[in-house]
Amino acid sequence: MESLLEKPAGEKITFVEAWELQQEGLEPAYEKEGHQGRRRCYNALRVRDCAASRLLCSKEGKRRGNKLPDSYEVAATEKVIVTARTLPSLLEGGVCPYAGEQPLRAAFHLEKGMLSAVRLLPPGAGEGEILPGPEWRCLSLPPDQLLAPAFVDCHLHIGLDGVEGFRSFTAPPSPQLLLTRLRALAAAGVLAVRDGGDCYGTAFAAQRLSADANREAGPLPRIVATGPAIYRRGHYGARLGGEGLDGLEGLEQEIRQRKDAGAQQLKVILSGLVSLQQTGKVGPLQFSLPELQKIVHLAAAFELPVMVHASSDAAVRLAVQAGVHSVEHGYFVEEETLRIMAAKGVAWVPTLAPLAALGALGPLGKGPDAAGSEAQAAAGDSAIAGHADPAGSAVEPQNTSVLRRIVEQHLFMLGRARALGVTVCVGTDGGAPGVSWSGGYWLELALLARAGFAPRELLTLAGVNGASLLGLARERGRIAPGKPPYWLCLDMDFLAGRMERRTLKGIIFPSPEPHA
Ligand SMILES: [Zn+2]
Repeated sequence: MESLLEKPAGEKITFVEAWELQQEGLEPAYEKEGHQGRRRCYNALRVRDCAASRLLCSKEGKRRGNKLPDSYEVAATEKVIVTARTLPSLLEGGVCPYAGEQPLRAAFHLEKGMLSAVRLLPPGAGEGEILPGPEWRCLSLPPDQLLAPAFVDCHLHIGLDGVEGFRSFTAPPSPQLLLTRLRALAAAGVLAVRDGGDCYGTAFAAQRLSADANREAGPLPRIVATGPAIYRRGHYGARLGGEGLDGLEGLEQEIRQRKDAGAQQLKVILSGLVSLQQTGKVGPLQFSLPELQKIVHLAAAFELPVMVHASSDAAVRLAVQAGVHSVEHGYFVEEETLRIMAAKGVAWVPTLAPLAALGALGPLGKGPDAAGSEAQAAAGDSAIAGHADPAGSAVEPQNTSVLRRIVEQHLFMLGRARALGVTVCVGTDGGAPGVSWSGGYWLELALLARAGFAPRELLTLAGVNGASLLGLARERGRIAPGKPPYWLCLDMDFLAGRMERRTLKGIIFPSPEPHA
């Protein structure tokens, strides 16, 4: 059996491993004697890599009458009506005359692979009233399910391995491994991602892979790439950016290369790592305001929005002044800076999951051995929030109080951001130590809920804000006529605060265009 997590019998499972197990709904199983000594075996974890195929293999379920199967591919030649409940906030303005927070029932007409119309349905409307003609087929979501836009992960690193091989990142991953990661993301409901870069530009390879995958692969996330990150040589960022820049002389050439390779945005590393020894201490700023302004300006000439790795209030403030489009991490941001972000429409991707992976958050709910203290075991090999580097400090037990303060402050400021109307987006920093491809997104949602976002608001953060930040609002995001269906079927319990991957009941997606 390969679907096992195995640990030496005395070693506790980490916080994130416990979370993964809980997501799979499986319990720790048994201990066995092997040549490596007594091992404790768990029944899940690696299942995450198979989850996509498990979910998507049930394609023969596609023709099962009105019952929605796990995944439903809508062909361009079909005429389909999906009847489902959704939230008014998830529909494009004008589609729904009602405001409010209660789910409403609607019929979604799909023709030529696009949503062609939305009709609100009176309670108890039968199929006869719903289908315009015999050529239409009806797909009814059960009443305990909610239709929502597919999730968007605004910050991950598809080239890195946050769970098993973060330290041994010496070559780009194989196409097979990349495909596994993309499938795991899709199975978690994530159908678009923005890659925050790595030194090999792996996201470009992943883009080609995703575009060339045959239909059997099922839905794969759309990838918005940035290529290797822009950073100053000799500073933090080698893993994400390769050689780095000495000065800005060669900048135009650097940006052009990324654009030509397929970048849709640019990633800049402005601040260093967050110290876990001393609250509020962050590595030095790598660029001055005029320098960052020049980067943003040149990127704009290539039509590339800019995402900036910025921790410390000074870094975030400088990024916002320079006109960047999104602030990544943003640890130690202050309220006044948040006000400016709200006024200027700068998005914030707070990346909470890597903090959880460092073990600062305590249990999120019941799970096998779930407890904050276990996560300290994980921390031995992790370094630092907002990207570990070989130079990053490991979390010693005496650092957990610093870490806890950082997290509490981060959650508090997120609550302030919510109140001030800052556009908050969901980004897992997938690929950072301890953050997995399948569980990371749901972990991030649960943590955002902790910061004060209501579940219905999270659906807007996840599906709507993310699509806008990635420049995909015309085809993703709010449900609206003229867009293809990239939708999730979620258990209504999600709205009651059940942030678990098991609440994802199905995925609706359009057939890919046939290759020329
Ligand atoms: Zn990152």
